[in-house]
Amino acid sequence: MVEERKNGNFLNTFSVNTSNNSAKKVMIIIGESLNRKFMSLYGYKRNTTPNLLRLAADTSNGKLYYFSDVISPEATTVPALRKVLTNINNENNIPFDKCITIVDLFKKAGYQSYWISNQAPMGKYDTPNAIIASSSDHTYFTASKNDIKSDNASTGNYLDSELFNVFNHFEGSDKPQQKQVFFVHLMGSHFYYNDRYPASYNVFNSKKDMDTSSYLNTVAYNDFIVSHFLKLAKNDDFDIVCYFSDHGEDLKYQHNQENYTRNMSVVPFIVYLSNNYKTTHPELDHELVKNKNTPGMTDNFFQDVQLICDFNSSLFNPRESFISDSYLRVKRRVVNNTIPYDN
Ligand SMILES: [Zn+2]
Repeated sequence: MVEERKNGNFLNTFSVNTSNNSAKKVMIIIGESLNRKFMSLYGYKRNTTPNLLRLAADTSNGKLYYFSDVISPEATTVPALRKVLTNINNENNIPFDKCITIVDLFKKAGYQSYWISNQAPMGKYDTPNAIIASSSDHTYFTASKNDIKSDNASTGNYLDSELFNVFNHFEGSDKPQQKQVFFVHLMGSHFYYNDRYPASYNVFNSKKDMDTSSYLNTVAYNDFIVSHFLKLAKNDDFDIVCYFSDHGEDLKYQHNQENYTRNMSVVPFIVYLSNNYKTTHPELDHELVKNKNTPGMTDNFFQDVQLICDFNSSLFNPRESFISDSYLRVKRRVVNNTIPYDN
């Protein structure tokens, strides 16, 4: 499958038209196990996301939009990203070996694609993601620093800040006019929480509830990571940054299908537009503001991203994008389409 994806046969099955107005530089940050209820950006009582709050309040250099009712279709990474990063959604039953990935979409639109990841490169638990990642023009996995050769290669347990230099290295390696898309795959707030942040982020440390404290520390560290990537993107004239988590987290059960709770569905969904891009896309600005409380699900991110980047493709269907005014709302179901989320 990896070979088939690399050969690019899938690229002949659809068309993408871009214009001078389409985005030139795009960053898509894929978070991990972040339940937005624990972010002060979304009203959490403790100040876990001061940097994102600051960026949201400052419209002098671009604008941050954050959506209040977006959920993940699945409770675990692989099934979630299988839908989030492809044209597979809850309604259409497209099999994985026939799907178009978001990497294919950007390739067809003429972008250099970069996949930089602090998650495991290839293993029995993450095969579909590795296949999606592998069709990028350039890939980097922090775990490769460990010289891990086994099929079950797990992560190297590096902090997400390892990816800053990788991004800077790749970003500067292209010709200035080259269109670029970066996928940044974080380890975020994944269990075990203590492994996800440096000692300097050990700020919440109630003895009564160690797990919650550690989780809040991951949220605070992730706030630093995501906002730092936003700053790097701003400095390098990116038009767009999207950030969301693959799924949420329940502090008692973490995330799994067997003990599903609604906390596993709840994710942040954030879009940044540069000033220039916002000015040339007033309708998009309007839709992002107007629809920020729409009940949405990330299984149709494939559609959202086309709307945001101003693509005109044969696969575009605005009725499936919760950002669009044409969105056709469906009752959301989660965990392999088996559990109703909306009444
Ligand atoms: Zn995950």
